[in-house]
Amino acid sequence: MKVALCPGSFDPVTNGHLDVILRTASQFDKVVVAVAANPEKLPLFDVEERLEMLNECLAEKDNVEAVAFDCLLIDMARQVGSTAIVKGLRAMSDFEFEFQMSQFNRQMAEDIETFLVMASPEYTYLSSSGIKEVVSYGGSIDGLVPEGVARRLYDKFGGPAAAGASGKE
Ligand code: ADP
Repeated sequence: MKVALCPGSFDPVTNGHLDVILRTASQFDKVVVAVAANPEKLPLFDVEERLEMLNECLAEKDNVEAVAFDCLLIDMARQVGSTAIVKGLRAMSDFEFEFQMSQFNRQMAEDIETFLVMASPEYTYLSSSGIKEVVSYGGSIDGLVPEGVARRLYDKFGGPAAAGASGKE
């Protein structure tokens, strides 16, 4: 069985992440979405909440599961029986980072391959940090993240209407 590992912070998951996960799921038998605990990055959502949001929007996908990890990515790949790390690529800045990470991982584990999936044009600008910034200033993020994620963000920051900013009516 071909298993792909899709790692990230997912703080929170966006429609751009989901696009990469679902496209990967159509090419592999199984996808394990690996959520980095990353406490040093001071995430907005704790790892349990990030997993809950992913599980909610991937509930219908039988061949996708989300798990937390707090170890080397190659060790996580071995744990789930995967030799394929799949990352999304939005811009040149993503490329530099992903290129360096893939070389590190290759140096430690030659049998594990990194695959880079080009972001879909409609999501190339979308990032979790951008989403958090928009919503923190009262902007609307409808259509950019799954509904359950938007609801949790509005709960934390107040919705676009509450903040009196440029949200959709
Ligand atoms: P972010 O950079 O949004 O904080 P993560 O660290 O959770 O995201 O990233 C996990 C993976 O998802 C990375 O490979 C990243 O390049 C990819 N990714 C994030 N946003 C998108 C997007 N809009 N389109 C395609 N891939 C993306």
